[in-house]
Amino acid sequence: MNYAVRRFPGYGKLSGKSLDELRAGERVAVSDGKQDPLDFVLWKSAKPEDPPQARWDSAYGTGRPGWHIECSAMSCATLGESFDIHGGGADLQFPHHENEIAQSEGATGKPLARLWMHNGFVRVDDEKMSKSLGNFFTIRDVLQRYGAETVRFFIVRTHYRSALNYSDAHLDDARQALRRLYTALSLVHPADDGAAIDWAAPHAARFKAAMDEDFGTPGAVAVLFELAGAVNKTRAPDLAGQLKALGGILGLLQGDPEAFLQAGVEAVDTDEIQARIAARAAAKAARNFAEADRIRDALLARGIVLKDSAAGTTWEAAP
Ligand SMILES: [Zn+2]
Repeated sequence: MNYAVRRFPGYGKLSGKSLDELRAGERVAVSDGKQDPLDFVLWKSAKPEDPPQARWDSAYGTGRPGWHIECSAMSCATLGESFDIHGGGADLQFPHHENEIAQSEGATGKPLARLWMHNGFVRVDDEKMSKSLGNFFTIRDVLQRYGAETVRFFIVRTHYRSALNYSDAHLDDARQALRRLYTALSLVHPADDGAAIDWAAPHAARFKAAMDEDFGTPGAVAVLFELAGAVNKTRAPDLAGQLKALGGILGLLQGDPEAFLQAGVEAVDTDEIQARIAARAAAKAARNFAEADRIRDALLARGIVLKDSAAGTTWEAAP
């Protein structure tokens, strides 16, 4: 049993195409009782060779549902006849999502979803990710090498509709960029930790405008960098507070800045590092600059960078 797409006036509204335009891309011959090449199966009659676990009795005879029906049925059962957001890969917009709309709205007369969000594909080193190319890996593999926050930052830097190009260089770059944001928070302790965001404040207003424009996370991330620059320049705790709070909306910057900046040093003994920092300060005070430099270089060789400021010396993992 097929769905006759010409009976649903809104067919094509999601992809913004007419039936004729959509048909031009389809090379399916009219067959199997279809009135139109775009007609699709709602219920497939059982063939004699179909196993018993793949056949059900229904008002339309024994058989099984067409593959688009599962989404209409699941969303209706769990979310109701109308819901807010339907997501999916860009390749599912047509025909799958058009067909879901035709089925659900044809049945209920109500809009299926208020918003549709179609995401771009993950690419690896600028190639399509696929099992056959052997460049296939899971998020679990990536998390062995990069922290979850770095991976999250890498993802939100790209707009969700665009292709997401995975490469180690891009992940390394994401980690460096995130370090710049955490560095601002390590310099200036945020005021009002956990306070509500004032959306009328200039940075917050720009962040919100970016997000309201089709979930524009790259624009929102750009505002975080503007804020970090302002924090570095003004040393204002309220700006640091805004940076942390706005980062939190994207699931970023909620960790301890020092811990983030120090992560990656092997077999770290913080007491020992503090003792080396104290020895270097003593050498400097005694004007033994050669010894002070030797201590700094020895730490650097172990991947530890010293940072001097008016407040004293702190350390980070080398970038
Ligand atoms: Zn679906």
